[in-house]
Amino acid sequence: MEYRLLGKTGLKVSRLCFGTLTMGPLQANLSLEEGASLLVEAFSAGINFWDTAESYHNYPYLRLALKKIGSMPIIASRTYASNAAEAEASLEKARVELDLEVIPIFMLHEQESALTLEGHRPALEYLCAARERGLIQAVGISCHTVAAVKAAILFPELDLIHPLINYRGIGIKDGSAAEMLAAIETAYKYGLGIYGMKVLGGGHLNASAKEAISFALELECLHALAIGMASLDELTANLCYMQGKDPSEDTVARLSQTKRRLKIEDWCTGCGYCVEACPQGALVVEHSLGRVVLRENCCILCGYCGAACPEMCLKIF
Ligand code: SF4
Ligand code: SF4
Repeated sequence: MEYRLLGKTGLKVSRLCFGTLTMGPLQANLSLEEGASLLVEAFSAGINFWDTAESYHNYPYLRLALKKIGSMPIIASRTYASNAAEAEASLEKARVELDLEVIPIFMLHEQESALTLEGHRPALEYLCAARERGLIQAVGISCHTVAAVKAAILFPELDLIHPLINYRGIGIKDGSAAEMLAAIETAYKYGLGIYGMKVLGGGHLNASAKEAISFALELECLHALAIGMASLDELTANLCYMQGKDPSEDTVARLSQTKRRLKIEDWCTGCGYCVEACPQGALVVEHSLGRVVLRENCCILCGYCGAACPEMCLKIF
C-alpha cells in the first residue's frame, strides 16, 4: 500500500481510503459484525484511512472495528451543520459514538460554492476552534461541484477537500471532469489535502474499475481516493486494481452478479423530501402516481436520499 501526506495536515494516509457509506444502513446494511470485520480486514491490508459521515448512520461499525484492531486509523467524518451549535452537536456525537477523544478529520458535508461556505461560516469557525482545542486534527469540506473546489482556496482555514472526481465526470454538478481536475490541481498547489470520492462514479464505472482507479491513481493532485466497499470481494478487487493487477476470475464473476441499484419501496408517499436531498436531480415526484420516480442515468448511488426519507423507502442494494 502506498501512503501519502495529506497536504499540510501532517496525516499520512493510505492512497486507498475505505468509503464506509456502502456497508451501512443506507446501503448494504451489513450486520455490525460483518461491517466491522471488513474494516479490520482492510486495516490489515494497509488501509489506514476510513471515510464516514454523520448522515451515514454507521459509526457503530467503525467503533467496533476500532476496538478489534486496538489501533488508530485516520477517520474522516462530516456534518451538515450550518451553525456553531449544530457543529458542536455533530462533533460530540462523533466523539461519543466512535469513542474517540480526537476526530482526525472533520468536514462540512456537500458544500456547493463560496456562497454556501459563507453561509456555513459559523459551523466552520466552530470546527476551526475545535481544531485549536485539539478535538480535531484537520478541517475540510466535501463537494460535488467545481465551484466549491475553487471556493476552498479562498478559505485558508481549510486543511483539505474531498471532491467528486472520476474520468467521465459522472456526478459533477457544474462542469466536466477536465474542469474539476483543473480546480483540484489549483487547490493542490495551494497545499490543500485532497482525497477524491466517487472514483467509480457510484457504481456506473464498475465495469471499467481498473481503468477508473488507474486514472485516479495517476493524478498527482489526489493524495488518496475513497472507494465504497461492502464485501470482501470488493476489497480484494480494489486492492488488486490499486496495484494495476486483475483480481481472480472467481472474484470478478461474483462481483459481476452484484450490480447495485436504488430501490424505491411501494409505500412511498410522494412527500418529495428525497428530491431536495438528491444532489444529482435524479428523483422526481410523479404526481399522477403519487410517488417519487428515479432517473436512473442521473443516479450516482450516493445514498444521500435515504437519510432524507421519513418512511425508509430508499435503499441501495
Ligand atoms: S437518487 Fe439518491 S442515491 Fe441517486 S444520486 Fe440521488 S441522492 Fe444519490
Ligand atoms: S422521501 Fe421517501 S416517502 Fe418521500 S417521496 Fe422520497 S421516497 Fe417517497
